[in-house]
Amino acid sequence: MEYRQLGETSLRISILGFGASPLGDVFRQTDPADRTAAVHLAVDRGINFFDVSPYYGLTLAETRLGEALQGRREKVVLATKCGRYNADQFDFSAARITASIDESLTRLRTDYVDLLQAHDVEFGDVRQIVEETVPAMRRLQAQGKARFVGITGYSLKNLMEIASQVKVDTILSYCRYNLMITDMDTTLMPFAKRNGIGLINASPLHMGVVTEHGAPDWHPAPHQVHEAGKETVALCKRRGVDASEVALRFCLDYPNAASTLVGMSSTSHVERNLKAMEKPNDSELLAEIAKIVAPVKDVVWPSGRAENYG
Ligand code: NAD
Repeated sequence: MEYRQLGETSLRISILGFGASPLGDVFRQTDPADRTAAVHLAVDRGINFFDVSPYYGLTLAETRLGEALQGRREKVVLATKCGRYNADQFDFSAARITASIDESLTRLRTDYVDLLQAHDVEFGDVRQIVEETVPAMRRLQAQGKARFVGITGYSLKNLMEIASQVKVDTILSYCRYNLMITDMDTTLMPFAKRNGIGLINASPLHMGVVTEHGAPDWHPAPHQVHEAGKETVALCKRRGVDASEVALRFCLDYPNAASTLVGMSSTSHVERNLKAMEKPNDSELLAEIAKIVAPVKDVVWPSGRAENYG
């Protein structure tokens, strides 16, 4: 496994990160034994970066991840979030953030997280995030409950607006750098580099668009994006390769994000995603995929509709 420094933090994280949202059954029902085995397998194979949130499965993902990590907590860099609690339930107040971390720590069966992130900040008020939320998170850091502090979201503009007004250690951006879209590279990446902020890239499969199974019903992308995803999957199938592995590898080859978080909840996905690390992408295939994706390249959806799991 390859590891990279996360910005200017002391955290060294695996370039393949374990996105734990599927543990909360947000994509489909998961098998209890298999999802626990998936976490164990990932840790055993050197995946040390785990990302979760109280929002995923309405606390289910945190609880399940905490159970699965028992006895393995010290082997991983654990990230969770605060401020988002349901599709339409947000509370970025200092009081909620302060209570939220204790609830997360109980579910995760630990007394600190390595990274605490304000979740989907575009749904909050910029001024509140800058003046109240992040300062409250810094106090939790001073108390030893979180080692570092970050923000997450879909709107690159909003993430940069906040991070230019208040110092954060990391930014997690999702569905902004993968086979379907790469605009994170031209905007957020230079900003993060300039400001010493660690960059985390999430949703390399575009939240299921570049998978055989296809995206879930709640997926916010316009129809044409789904169609381009299906065409990409079909092309890869004809070439005898797995589109999800190609899509993941495309992100792993990007050197400017410390880690790529892919959602996993089964041992077969962990195995396949680890395999993607060994298989370089074929440049001719990537050129053909680029042609399919060209008409919808860099299509974004209104951020209010992003990541509304469930
Ligand atoms: P993703 O693009 O990683 O897609 C996940 C889906 O792909 C799931 O259905 C999963 O079962 C499936 N999958 C995984 N590996 C596969 C494989 N090899 N073949 C076929 N299917 C496969 O999207 P995601 O889960 O939304 O994103 C990854 C992680 O990033 C999340 O779990 C979460 O931790 C983080 N994230 C954070 C935010 C935020 O903070 N706002 C938003 C999105 C994602």
